[in-house]
Amino acid sequence: MNTVQDSARFRGHLARRWAEWQDAGLERRPSVFGSGQGAVAEIDGEKRLLFASSNYLGLSDHPALREAARGALDRFGTGSGGSRLTTGTGAVHRELEHEVADWLDFPECVWLPTGYQTNLAVLSVLADSREEQVTVFSDEKNHASIIDGIRFAKSSGTRLSVYPHRDVRHLAELLRTRETSLAVVVTDGLFSMDGTVAPVRELREVSDRYGALLVVDDAHGIGTLGEGVSGRGCCSDAGVRPDVLVGTASKALGTEGGFLCCDRILADLIRNQARSYVFSTAASPVTAAASLASVRLVRGGEAGVGKLHRNAAYLRTSLGERGVTAGGVTEGPIVPVAVGDERLALAVQERLREAAIHVPAIRWPTVRKGHAILRVTVTAQHTLPQFDRLVDVLSRSLRDLAVRPA
Ligand code: PMP
Repeated sequence: MNTVQDSARFRGHLARRWAEWQDAGLERRPSVFGSGQGAVAEIDGEKRLLFASSNYLGLSDHPALREAARGALDRFGTGSGGSRLTTGTGAVHRELEHEVADWLDFPECVWLPTGYQTNLAVLSVLADSREEQVTVFSDEKNHASIIDGIRFAKSSGTRLSVYPHRDVRHLAELLRTRETSLAVVVTDGLFSMDGTVAPVRELREVSDRYGALLVVDDAHGIGTLGEGVSGRGCCSDAGVRPDVLVGTASKALGTEGGFLCCDRILADLIRNQARSYVFSTAASPVTAAASLASVRLVRGGEAGVGKLHRNAAYLRTSLGERGVTAGGVTEGPIVPVAVGDERLALAVQERLREAAIHVPAIRWPTVRKGHAILRVTVTAQHTLPQFDRLVDVLSRSLRDLAVRPA
């Protein structure tokens, strides 16, 4: 075997794959931020209006979070020193878990370094089929971390059944005719790309009717939705309690880290068996302390959730007045504008960039091929004139480029 020639062949293979990816308009290069993520940010060396951040409440810059982070830095230093299970659990991680469990009214909360790892932990343990086979029923638009968590579970023999987006009747039929007695229904709460909310009341009802556990990943709804301006997420809005509620601190809470709320037994199982919990270093005490301060602000009603709702509603109304249809729920911070073709979406993104506005074109594989969107995100920090500017440039760009989404 000629190894030199073989490795050259492999490099050629990679180069071809990369060229195909680029030709399809799928190449991505991240913008580089030279500032924090406020309504105006320094992006790639210039000041732009930022409509792409998940820092929905602007808390990443809040004095209370900065102070908490500084305090933890002085007390604990920068790193957590190990996995939660070995050496990484600090007093602040414990306090944070108690605070979140109390806030969301669950017996237990388990904190992980990211939301991504949290979904791997939940699904790999809950849907483990080594002792008895489980079927997971998953909304077709669920986040990639849910899909990867299911992949983990599938290595133990778990079955997967994907149901059409938010289609509870279809799901009910799949649940009724399933072949395993154990079943899990899993859904995003506030969907990350189309900005819609899962029908959690109906999902709870069919899950109960057919003996399934319900997992809701409300990464985008925690801190933004919830009865009144509580920020407790879409389940609390609907008066529903899932068996497992997943959230992340990396969005409205303005820090980093993922968490799940559930009962005692599942929490213990996850702390002992979830590979993404056991074999990964715990979140830094600095981000844990900032997350704790953030949760307290939201709980105390001081985080601007009402302002976020008003801003989101204003943007949607203004877009509608200019003939631009935006998806998602009225008060939700995710405002998708359908474009369709990937290259066209990039062209609109470029027009916005020329006007110093940052809105990303979201393309396959994040959304389906040929269904590219411009994903606008609203924060409590944006001002009405900033929305007016966005609506003006965006509506003109869509018209000039003759965008007619499929
Ligand atoms: N779930 C959903 C629905 C998400 O949108 C995201 C983040 N894009 C995650 C989980 C992962 O969270 P994190 O960024 O904290 O890993």
